[in-house]
Formats: sequence, C-alpha cells, structure tokens
Amino acid sequence: MAGDAGVRIERLAALLDEPLLVTSLVNVRWLTGLASSNAAVLVEPDGDATLFTDFRYAQKAGKLDVRFEQTARAVVADLSTRLAGRTIWIEAHVLTVAANEQLRAGGVETIPQQGLVERLRAIKDEAEIATMRGAAAISDKVFEALAEEQFTGRTERDLTWRIRELFKEHGSPELSFDAIAASAENGASPHADVLDRPIPANTLVTVDAGCRVDGYASDCTRTFATGDLPDELARAYEVCLEAQQAGLDAYGPGVGGRDADAAAREVIAAAGWAEEFGHGLGHGIGLEVHEAPTVRPESTDELCAGNVVSCEPGIYLPGLGGVRIEDMVLVTDGGRERLTTHTKDLIRVS
Ligand code: ZN
Ligand code: ZN
Repeated sequence: MAGDAGVRIERLAALLDEPLLVTSLVNVRWLTGLASSNAAVLVEPDGDATLFTDFRYAQKAGKLDVRFEQTARAVVADLSTRLAGRTIWIEAHVLTVAANEQLRAGGVETIPQQGLVERLRAIKDEAEIATMRGAAAISDKVFEALAEEQFTGRTERDLTWRIRELFKEHGSPELSFDAIAASAENGASPHADVLDRPIPANTLVTVDAGCRVDGYASDCTRTFATGDLPDELARAYEVCLEAQQAGLDAYGPGVGGRDADAAAREVIAAAGWAEEFGHGLGHGIGLEVHEAPTVRPESTDELCAGNVVSCEPGIYLPGLGGVRIEDMVLVTDGGRERLTTHTKDLIRVS
C-alpha cells in the first residue's frame, strides 16, 4: 500500500482534542504505510505524527513519509517513558488492559477512545477502490474456474486446497481467510469447519473465500449444486438470491445499516425462514475482512459513498443444508456497484 500518509494523518488529526496513540497494527499500516507486527503511531491534534517501531522494522520505517523513532522491542513499555507526563487518547478497543496500566504506571495520563481511525478507514479513497476492484476481479476468476472442478466425491478439505491454488494461479497467493467449503448438512453452519469428508451428490456446497492484494481483502460466497436438489434446498437458493438482490437494491448513501439488512431479511422471513438467517447481512471490507460499517439489525451505521461492504444473506436448514450468496459492494454517490460480478445463477457442478 502506498497510500497518502499525510492526507490520512491530517484527516485523523482533525478529529482529535488530545494526541491519539494508535496501537492497532492495521491502523498504523493505513496511516503510515508500515506493515509490521510491532509498531505504534502518535498523532497530534495539529497534524504532527511520530511512528514508533523496533529494530526489525527500522529500515522500512525510515523510508516512509512520516517521522520515525526507533524504540525497544517492547514498544509500549518504551513509550511509557517517552510520553511520561503527557495526556493521550488510546484505542480502548485495541490496547490491552496490561499495556494501559504500563503507560499509566510510567506517568502517562490515558483517556479511552474507540473507532476513530476505523471510521476513516471505512471510506475508501480512489487508490484503495482500485486495489479492491483488483482483488474482487481475482475472486471472480477463481469462482469461474471453480465451477469446472469436480466437487462430488472430493473432500471439502481437498476442495479448499484447490481454491488456494486457484487464487495463486489467478494472481494472489495470499488468502484473506481460510477458504470455507461446506456441503450438505455441514452447510447449515454459517462458519462451518471444513471436513475431511467426501462431498455428496444432489446437495448444496457453500464456498466462501477471498484473497489479498496489497493488504486489501476480497470476500465472496457462491453456493453450488452437485446435481438435482431436494425441493427445500432448491427453494432456499431461490429465496436467498431474491433476498440478496433486495439487499443490494437497498444499498446506497444515507441508508441505515439496519434498514439495508431489513430489506433482505423481510424476503427470507416472508418465506418462513426468519430464524434460519441468524447473522447480519453485511460488513465492511478493507485491510480487515470484517471492519466498519456494519449492516445488521442492531447497526447504528449509515452507509456512505466509498464504503465497501458485503451483502451476504444465508439460509441454514439444520440436518439438510445451507445457502449463502455474498458479493462485495462499493457504495457510490448514485447508489452501489457490485465489485464481485460472478454469476449468481445456480451453478451445477459435477
Ligand atoms: Zn465471506
Ligand atoms: Zn463476508
């Protein structure tokens, strides 16, 4: 990620009354461009910023467009001395209680805050959108190739290894999360454990997978049929697809996350499966697979242009099977644009 560190830090600074110590590594990466396992950045309300990391990342950090100070391996312990006597905001949803106590013991006054950088990250800039378009395009190619694969008789685990290979063949060796392939009754679990069990004929197989491009994730789900389906599964697929379209149609700037969720949920409830759709309709996607904003019944977020969110209703029928259909969607000034465009017609695989 190149990103424009200056612009991002300035936007964050405008939200601050006190200096914010950013300790989320994803937030540090987004603000400064440093991908590491150990770093922090202190952003001052006037827009000044200092990046702290240890020897292992010093060379990378030194090349970035932000002031850098090398610390000991224990960054927070080191900062408890450097920042002694100062009052700072901390990322209360990230910093551990132990690390906070360490800062306070060193004489740093800490005030908990939450989600400041995440709120900014939720709105993607042009470069981020271009990168995520690329990640979504790789997903499209993988799902297209997957339709040519043998499913029946192959284990779910073997299929997920093949998915990993397909992502590499189509341009990204890095998955955004362990791919899920869940067949028959295993598909009735939204986050199924992949089994070492052959995929049966005449059922549904839910495949949820994604890759990373320059740190940015893709996330897409399609559900395949291994032959003729029992009537209930065939109907569940149709209802899920209709619900997904209703959700997509609702996405747009100014729309409440809970209202978009309701648009899809109503379709599933009308089919009698309200209880069988037990998760939210969508989540933001970016440097993290799950980030702001949320699209679910209890969401207080409002969608806005630049958000990249999933739209993924599911219907889970215990003992029988499940279906989920998921696209990555960019919220635009005029409405929305699907970033994953692979067909949602029910694909029959061998
Ligand atoms: Zn997914
Ligand atoms: Zn998702």
